[in-house]
Amino acid sequence: MAKRDYYTVLGVDRNADETAIKKAYRQCALKYHPDKNPGNKEAEEKFKEAAEAYEVLSNPEKRAKYDKFGHDGLKNMGGGFSGAGMSMEDIFSQFGDIFESAFGFGGFSGFGDFRGRQSQRRNVKRGTNLRVKVKLTLEEIAKGVEKKIKVQKYVSCNECSGSGARGGSSFNTCSTCHGTGHVTRVTSTFLGQMQTTSTCPTCGGEGRIISDKCPACSGNGVVKGEEIITVKIPAGVAEGMQLSMSGKGNAAARGGIPGDLIILIEEQKHPNLVRDGSNLLYEHYISFPEAALGLSLEVPTIEGRARIRIEPGTQSGKILRLKGKGLPSIENHGRGDLLVSINVWTPENLTKSEKEILEKLKESSNFQPKLSGKEKNFYERMREYF
Ligand SMILES: [Zn+2]
Ligand SMILES: [Zn+2]
Repeated sequence: MAKRDYYTVLGVDRNADETAIKKAYRQCALKYHPDKNPGNKEAEEKFKEAAEAYEVLSNPEKRAKYDKFGHDGLKNMGGGFSGAGMSMEDIFSQFGDIFESAFGFGGFSGFGDFRGRQSQRRNVKRGTNLRVKVKLTLEEIAKGVEKKIKVQKYVSCNECSGSGARGGSSFNTCSTCHGTGHVTRVTSTFLGQMQTTSTCPTCGGEGRIISDKCPACSGNGVVKGEEIITVKIPAGVAEGMQLSMSGKGNAAARGGIPGDLIILIEEQKHPNLVRDGSNLLYEHYISFPEAALGLSLEVPTIEGRARIRIEPGTQSGKILRLKGKGLPSIENHGRGDLLVSINVWTPENLTKSEKEILEKLKESSNFQPKLSGKEKNFYERMREYF
């Protein structure tokens, strides 16, 4: 097909200056803009033709060649357009600034965001996020765990492939917005004419209207269902933490993006161990003779049991630290400790003979509390351990 004269395409005379050419191109582009002519192939070709003409006539070097030799003069220039082969993306990326500054009236442009809309011409719907609670034992938290969770949620309708239309194809182009999903309004203000673009109220931005609703989902594109989701929970998580699984939430109505699945961590109480950050705490009572004589004992840990030595003369309240027997830290990959608090059990009931023995022991100077002065006070001890 023979190319039309570029000056004819833009409707300017051969002496037109840069400003006149730019103005003419804006007018052509506006007239044949795909937003105004959805699905109109002829308009699209005209739109591309105008872009090509403008590309040449706005470039002094190319324009000079064109003036001298016509279309043939541009053949060897390189970097030019291939005319009808040029994509809309090319036009918008090359002349985006024109669309941003030119189409608006008084600087307020409804076309300024056209490039952004190219990729999501119709409003993209988003499914809602779902929240589920996952209860974990301390053992599971210590190692990390994979959980299979059955989630009740909206899933894409199989009958219509999530489109909401019977058979997946019963659509009419929206007559209000002609399929663009948005409507443009020009209003007069004291600043001049303002152009605003908003979501089409008829189709809600989808650009099309279902002519025959899918009976399975009543046109929603989603149905109630459930999914078994495998969740990988890293070691060291804590009560109240949230993990987010992108796209595992509710399916969106009619072909949108599904929401996220938010997993809320709940910690189950451990029968023996108490968590303090990445440390674990355990309290153990020994008898008074054990404290005086010393002993070896077993304490529970998160991975079984550990044997610890209680030295003779251990005071009540002593805290023993078992390095690395705590929980992994989710932040720095280190591991906490197990802190064992040793307490001495004071007998509550005594037989007569036990009383007699204790009365005798009471007199011994060894049984009098002796603080050497080197002992740290309670607060210092606590600060050191925690
Ligand atoms: Zn519409
Ligand atoms: Zn359906």
